Amino acid sequence: ESLDLWTRSDHYTNSFLIRPDPVLDAVVQNTMDKGVEHEIAVSPAQGKFLHLILLSIGAKRVLEVGSLGGYSAIWMARALPDDGEVVTLELNELHAEVIAENVKTAGLSSKVKVIVGPAHEAMLAMQPEPLAPFDFVFIDADKESATKYFIEAKRLLRKGGVIIVDNVGQGWPVDPSNTESGIEGARELLRYIKDDTEVEATVIHTVGAKGFDGFLYAISK
Ligand code: SAM
Repeated sequence: ESLDLWTRSDHYTNSFLIRPDPVLDAVVQNTMDKGVEHEIAVSPAQGKFLHLILLSIGAKRVLEVGSLGGYSAIWMARALPDDGEVVTLELNELHAEVIAENVKTAGLSSKVKVIVGPAHEAMLAMQPEPLAPFDFVFIDADKESATKYFIEAKRLLRKGGVIIVDNVGQGWPVDPSNTESGIEGARELLRYIKDDTEVEATVIHTVGAKGFDGFLYAISK
């Protein structure tokens, strides 16, 4: 019942703050039509939050780990200047095909680059670009690997750059009886960051259409 109230509350505030968006509606429809589970994408309010953060920090280059149908990538790409880019890493080839369709629909094909394959390998193969490091990394793939992704994200990020990790509250990591691997992944990341002198971080719990969860927000020092 409380979930329903969170969803209603999210829709209520969105109705004032998020404009009708036929392009994103078409993207979501296409994603669902292709059998890709759009339900696990970020919510509209979260997508806009990512968008606003990129505007706030003047981001130009963004790395995303876990693309699904490109919903969050589109929100983020829309916040970038003409010469900005979202590089998004996705394991699933069907998803990658759907992203290509969706970014085309959104007129963003030149700003979104999809790398298909296991994200960790793709990250290991990337070198920090001294002239164009990433300003922002959004980690939203297999939750078990969050720490591995976080370590590579730091390496590829500019000083002062931002990392957001989704799902750091999902399934209540606070409750030790929850031992599902994705929840263990969130705990491992929190333990790792506790002793990490390279970042400052916090978790903001999120509630809304996606239930109870949390965004971990970290700044590279
Ligand atoms: N960020 C997307 C959005 O909000 O629109 C949602 C991403 S969805 C929660 C997670 C994605 O990560 C799925 O598309 C899944 O195929 C992908 N994924 C899972 N394991 C992966 C891996 N090892 N490497 C790359 N992508 C992976």
